[in-house]
Amino acid sequence: MPLHYIDGQFSMGSSKEMIDVIDPATEQVIDSVPRGTEADAHAAVAAAKRAYQVWRRTSANVRATMLHEAASKMRQHQEHIVRLLTLEEGKPVPENEEEFEWLCTTFDYYAELGRHERGRVLPSGEWSQLNLVLKEPYGVAACIVPWNYPLLLLAWKMAPALAAGNTLVIKPSELTPLTTMYLAEHCWDHFPQGVINIVNGLGIEVAEPLVLHPDVPVIAFTGSLQIGQRIASLASPMMKKLHLELGGKDAFVVSDDADPEMTASALAYAALTNAGQVCTSTERVYLPKSRAKEFTEALVEHVRKLRMGPGIESTTDIGPMIGDRYRQKVEQHISEAVGKGAKVLVGGKRPAGLDKGYYLEPTVLTNVDHSMVIMREETFGPAIPLMEYSSFAEAIELTNDSQFGLGACLVTSDPLKAKLFMEEVKAGTVWINDPLTDNYAGPFGGMKFSGGARELGQEGLDEFRETKHVHWDFAAKIKPWWYPYGQS
Ligand code: NAD
Repeated sequence: MPLHYIDGQFSMGSSKEMIDVIDPATEQVIDSVPRGTEADAHAAVAAAKRAYQVWRRTSANVRATMLHEAASKMRQHQEHIVRLLTLEEGKPVPENEEEFEWLCTTFDYYAELGRHERGRVLPSGEWSQLNLVLKEPYGVAACIVPWNYPLLLLAWKMAPALAAGNTLVIKPSELTPLTTMYLAEHCWDHFPQGVINIVNGLGIEVAEPLVLHPDVPVIAFTGSLQIGQRIASLASPMMKKLHLELGGKDAFVVSDDADPEMTASALAYAALTNAGQVCTSTERVYLPKSRAKEFTEALVEHVRKLRMGPGIESTTDIGPMIGDRYRQKVEQHISEAVGKGAKVLVGGKRPAGLDKGYYLEPTVLTNVDHSMVIMREETFGPAIPLMEYSSFAEAIELTNDSQFGLGACLVTSDPLKAKLFMEEVKAGTVWINDPLTDNYAGPFGGMKFSGGARELGQEGLDEFRETKHVHWDFAAKIKPWWYPYGQS
């Protein structure tokens, strides 16, 4: 049974109750974790604060070696980790294998980036001075993680934060804590005591005490807009560094020059990976009026062929959703749209023959518009609403007509359209002809209500370092510009 991991020890801390972890494909309890308390959160912060004094002075080379060692140990446990991740999160094995690769390589990437530099030397203002820009760790970083990519999104925070010299208190999602605890036990045990701490439990009971703790200067959070806003309201008066990766409502624009078969395949992947539970899932699609019928038919045909089932089975394309309340939200968005005139072309139901598990058929809808919730709020499920546009300028306008700005996709072979889209769309990532790819060296994050944090790349390291400018004059002498004036 996984416990908390505080100051190098696995323990119940002051927790008295347990939280069951459910396999979303079967609704069976797989295991349980302690329901942490404020006292557990505070004990973890105290341990991380003590360890920080050692870790920040540990050489970048030693830190890099430890990060590489973690990556190497994780690779040795790949089979078990991927299986456990599939059981607790639900998405198909190939998607979890990909998440696993992101986990390991992110550790390797930041091991090297972290020892590459720690600031820069400036041309000095005076000949006798040295002007340095130092990049320094903040101290204790709280990493609050969601359930949809529990390891990838943890690694994107954890690896740069550790490489920069911070220590950590991690709060996994209560829905998917098992793989994180397995990693702590088997793959991260070589880090010095207190550098990595994990407290399990509910957000309100464990994560909020971290957000409010005066010894936690950085809050790195990925999750919903609503919780991100709450964290911001609590932490901003304390002038904390906020690293917020929030929701999205990504648009997918199909240009009139696109190939229907390629478009259908790209669209299904962008909208249905992890049963549509990706922050950058395609959540609204804009088709050119002149060819909408062709694109729609190709998509419906493609979606009909996809196979639903438990993620652990090799024939599964689309697994269950994470829980019933998330499924009900998607169903409500679909029924609200239908009530306003939308038409379901395929899906829209719980699949026959899969009575247990939180399954929902991949659903394609037409006749939608921006008055419908499904085109405005994050749906976070396997729904693909299709809307028609008359001109490319209108498609860009519709893309930008959202409070969110996480990602946006375009399919086209026309470079002028690609350039216009890339420059006019307000989103942190723009994908042209290859949706939902990432690059270790490139920043990932949002604009507008999707939050302004960046993960991966140099930017991802800088989120966990603060900047200090040092003016150092080698001549410890009276300067001519000091008092009294008029003496030079
Ligand atoms: P969530 O906001 O419900 O929970 C995220 C984490 O916050 C969990 O660990 C939860 O326990 C914790 N939490 C809950 N209440 C809290 C509180 N009061 N104070 C502090 N922490 C609290 O999100 P979720 O349902 O786990 O994840 C889905 C959401 O995450 C979606 O909105 C999705 O778009 C977003 N997401 C964003 C990105 C990105 O990079 N922008 C990536 C993945 C997911």
